[in-house]
Amino acid sequence: MTCQEKVKKYIQNIKAKPQLNAFLEIYEEEALQRAAQIDAKIAAGNAGKLAGFVIGLKDVICYQNHPLQASSKILNGFVSQFSATVTERLLAEDAIIIGRQNCDEFAMGSSNENSAFGIARNAADESRVPGGSSGGSAIAVQADLCDISLGSDTGGSVRQPAAFCGVVGLKPTYSRISRFGLIAYASSFDCIGIFGRNIKDVALVLEVIAGKDDQDSTVSSQPVPAYSQQLSVTSKKRIAYLKETIESEGLQPEILATVKNTIEQLKKDGHTVEQVDFPLLKYILPVYYILTTAEASSNLARYDGVRYGHRTKEDFEDLEEMYKKTRSEGFGSEVQRRIMLGTFVLSASYYDAYYTKAQKMRRLIKESTDKIFENYDFILLPTTPTTAFKIGEHQKDVLQMYLADLFTVQANVAGIPAISIPKGTDEQGLPIGIQLMAQYFKEDELLAFANYLM
Ligand code: GLN
Repeated sequence: MTCQEKVKKYIQNIKAKPQLNAFLEIYEEEALQRAAQIDAKIAAGNAGKLAGFVIGLKDVICYQNHPLQASSKILNGFVSQFSATVTERLLAEDAIIIGRQNCDEFAMGSSNENSAFGIARNAADESRVPGGSSGGSAIAVQADLCDISLGSDTGGSVRQPAAFCGVVGLKPTYSRISRFGLIAYASSFDCIGIFGRNIKDVALVLEVIAGKDDQDSTVSSQPVPAYSQQLSVTSKKRIAYLKETIESEGLQPEILATVKNTIEQLKKDGHTVEQVDFPLLKYILPVYYILTTAEASSNLARYDGVRYGHRTKEDFEDLEEMYKKTRSEGFGSEVQRRIMLGTFVLSASYYDAYYTKAQKMRRLIKESTDKIFENYDFILLPTTPTTAFKIGEHQKDVLQMYLADLFTVQANVAGIPAISIPKGTDEQGLPIGIQLMAQYFKEDELLAFANYLM
């Protein structure tokens, strides 16, 4: 199949199922033109590493001269003036970018229901959510609308929708991939992540986009291994699973059974698998929601209607009134809730009680996670407590929605890499994901082991 044929096929697939609402925009003409150029390069024998890869970008990743909105009204009319480092690196290796993908507004959510562009639907059951916040990106890979999607994972937004949609989702180590050109939600947690149908594709894309970047001083300068060339497991591993996760109250029985079967299979294969206590699990979500809302309240202060994006059409007396009207109209309710919560935890009277305390807890969670890795290569856990829930099911109950990330946030709080891989389905035929976490910068081992488990 030529690149042109492939792009045509994907565009057809996207148009055949508009109700999935995975893409906010497709770059049809442009993708086809680029496909023709890359076909020529392939014929000439000088094509890049990602020639033939058709890739979608979550609507939080900049692509020069293309609209970008974080699925929010507040960025109406905004066009990127530059490309994210990841976008540039994809293009430099001859990837084809097919469009931008639906997500929860400013990447806040676990169901893709908080998008100004409407809900997106899980292709396994269209009455259910795809997960979030990178819901459109997960569906795109699930429903054969592109080869790879780039999303962002601040608390689980790549792994959770990957699990709900039955695809692979990788969140690398914090600082492994440049955040230059990624719309900020919570900067000390945000990570660009990769969706794919198999590990090899994900590994190859990681090796292209990871690594040092002068535009982002937080990026690690550690060398980037050729991940896609090292996907075999050659030794027996030590794997921990956390007692508190498998004893977790809301864990769906079929997911528990999948984790247990995986443990048995690993033991049979000669790996060491042991239970470890992790009593801090119950603090992880509160810590996450205090720190990320604090960072979000600061990061989102820039959307004020002055230089770009939406500005109120109503009359206003002064600048403050203009801000208030603009931000009340432009931000959806979940984003407003988080800005207010974050402003509250950072306010002078509550700073120590919430923000400082959460920072201290973050350190403890990181240290006890590090401790586990003194004895084990990987932590195995479910990706999510349940499979994909119904559209609307958790809309009224924010806490239920937040609980969807119970098992994914640890990796973001600690900054370690984690991956979700599909492992069968539940009784209703909905995909189940299991998750592996590894020590900092051990993406090579993580990908190899995930490949072995798939
Ligand atoms: N669902 C989590 C949240 O709402 C995670 C979001 C993310 O990883 N971007 O914050």
